[in-house]
Amino acid sequence: MLEKVILVICDGLGDRPIKELGGLTPLEAAKTPHLDSLAAESECGMMHTLGRGFVPGSDVSHLNILGYDYEKYYSGRGTIEAAGVGLKLSDGDVALRGNFGTVNEQLIITDRRAGRIRDVRALTEALDGLEIDGVSFVVKPGTAHRAAVLMRGKGLSNAIIDADPHKGDLPIREVTPIDNTAEAGFTAKVLNKFLKKSHEILKAHPLNVERQRNGELPANYLLVRGAGKYSKVPSFKERFNFSGCCIAGGGLYKGVASFLGMTVLDVPGATGLPDTDVEEKFRMAIKSLASYDFVFVHVKAADSLGEDGDFKGKRDFIEKIDKAARLFNELSKDVLLIITADHTTPCEQKSHSGDPVPILFRGNGVRVDKVTAFNERACTEGGLGFITGKDIIPQVLNLFGTLHLTGA
Ligand code: ZN
Repeated sequence: MLEKVILVICDGLGDRPIKELGGLTPLEAAKTPHLDSLAAESECGMMHTLGRGFVPGSDVSHLNILGYDYEKYYSGRGTIEAAGVGLKLSDGDVALRGNFGTVNEQLIITDRRAGRIRDVRALTEALDGLEIDGVSFVVKPGTAHRAAVLMRGKGLSNAIIDADPHKGDLPIREVTPIDNTAEAGFTAKVLNKFLKKSHEILKAHPLNVERQRNGELPANYLLVRGAGKYSKVPSFKERFNFSGCCIAGGGLYKGVASFLGMTVLDVPGATGLPDTDVEEKFRMAIKSLASYDFVFVHVKAADSLGEDGDFKGKRDFIEKIDKAARLFNELSKDVLLIITADHTTPCEQKSHSGDPVPILFRGNGVRVDKVTAFNERACTEGGLGFITGKDIIPQVLNLFGTLHLTGA
């Protein structure tokens, strides 16, 4: 019998062969004895998170993996990020995600992350609570250079383009509506006013003055994107009857969990960066089984290292995950352990790709297959075959014996 579930998502874990690593992927090149021994006790496979031919974004990938078809439940990443930084969303709110970046006098972006500024709390405090044309703005810090922006007021829409052009060396975009509704036009107009005002405040902010004095880039523009309009979704517990909790460093993943009504646990040392304490996260996951049925653990850094093209860093971080994964070798098989990734982030490409990722299911009732290594090529031989993100929760429910009978 199975009692509980731990789902570990290693963000951007998948990769492609890298010449400098002898034609291996970072996961193949890493020494992963613990993950491999887990694979040997598991049913393995490969997952095209959103199906073949899709390049998965982290937000929608997580929704699908957790059983929430993004086509039904997703309205933009902003709402999820806002939930992740602890904002309580109400029906009709429009939320955006953002980065603090650096722009020059001509409003051309010279650095998208303001030199990867680590702490933006003083800046978000300066912008939080602004009110424009009857719309109030809530601005909260995310991890490192990130922030969430919530617009609350009547007649708002998420049908607007991003102010963020998504690349450096380009001018800031004026936000324009995507459709012809009065709501979209109003939202774009108010947001433009807010961004302009924010830029004035940020330019003069003492933190930025000090940064420039120290030869650092000023975080003088809030690059916003991913507008989403919130409407209530049924909770994970309501839909699958598992009480859920989340262990993550990154705001997005806490956001996905909050969005689904899971409890977000605070883990000291979980930073969402390569220095994160993976071992503490895994230890806490096991401990949390005493209070929750379903523990969702997210580990971020393999993705960021992939986006930086740092294949050695990615390989080394995977070894750090593996070292912590020894804790799972002792885990009771009453606990269904699932380890996977949300997508591939090839170091060579420095962005997400549509390549499938390895996945393993370990626990009572699982049909253990012949795979003895956890990586992109070994798992192609696994018993699960090629699945999609949407298959995971049905597979969990099947193993728990709670999947409904089709037919009679
Ligand atoms: Zn991701």
